[in-house]
Amino acid sequence: MGKIIAILGDIHANIDALNVVLDDCRKEGVTDFLCTGDVVGYNAAPSECMKVIRELGCPVVKGNHDHYVSSDQNLDDFHPNAAAVVRWTREQLDAEEIDWLYNLPFVVTQMGITLVHSTMDNPETFGYVFDHFQAEANFICQKTPLCFHGHTHVPMIYEKQVAGVYRIDPQDFKLPIGRKYFINVGSVGQPRDRDPRATYVVYDFLARTVKFRRLEYDVEAAQERIRLAGLPSRLAERLAVGE
Ligand code: ZN
Repeated sequence: MGKIIAILGDIHANIDALNVVLDDCRKEGVTDFLCTGDVVGYNAAPSECMKVIRELGCPVVKGNHDHYVSSDQNLDDFHPNAAAVVRWTREQLDAEEIDWLYNLPFVVTQMGITLVHSTMDNPETFGYVFDHFQAEANFICQKTPLCFHGHTHVPMIYEKQVAGVYRIDPQDFKLPIGRKYFINVGSVGQPRDRDPRATYVVYDFLARTVKFRRLEYDVEAAQERIRLAGLPSRLAERLAVGE
């Protein structure tokens, strides 16, 4: 039987978006899951999202928010909204959940595919990749032909050819043999490419096809949870516009 792999990440405690994505995975015939991290942060259902992701039994790499929440990271230099949600999230999780987040690996390689939250050249300091120069540093350290990541919340394809590295807008495509790809799967729970729909990627292992999925979900329900939790209202507002 073929493997249909869903790669999802930057869920950020948005259970309304996560449930819609997992429903879509069933329709897509997904057989395996990979998670690029940031299960918690920004939204108001961290424990619920962790439970669902853990039940998938899939590899999960550590995101910066997973790290902030589970470590004694000093928050003085953080944006006040980010600091508020990290403090709030720490209070929502029990010791076992905090431990689980803390012990997540930074990099996982499975089925010949690499998973990292940010970039392979510095997975533990969470550098951002927004252009092909930054992607070049990743490719120096990426050993497998295919690597999935997240962190920017902007879906994107980076392709390494002999001649150089190219940035390609997200689109469905078939992986040619002999090239390397570093693919940003976007964000389930807080998209930032001005499209508020939840994003994830489906990879057909045998056909070598990559598909970007965009899904509407109940944004108002997620916003209501943020308000009820007393989290900064800006975190609710940005969900409606995808920024
Ligand atoms: Zn994130």
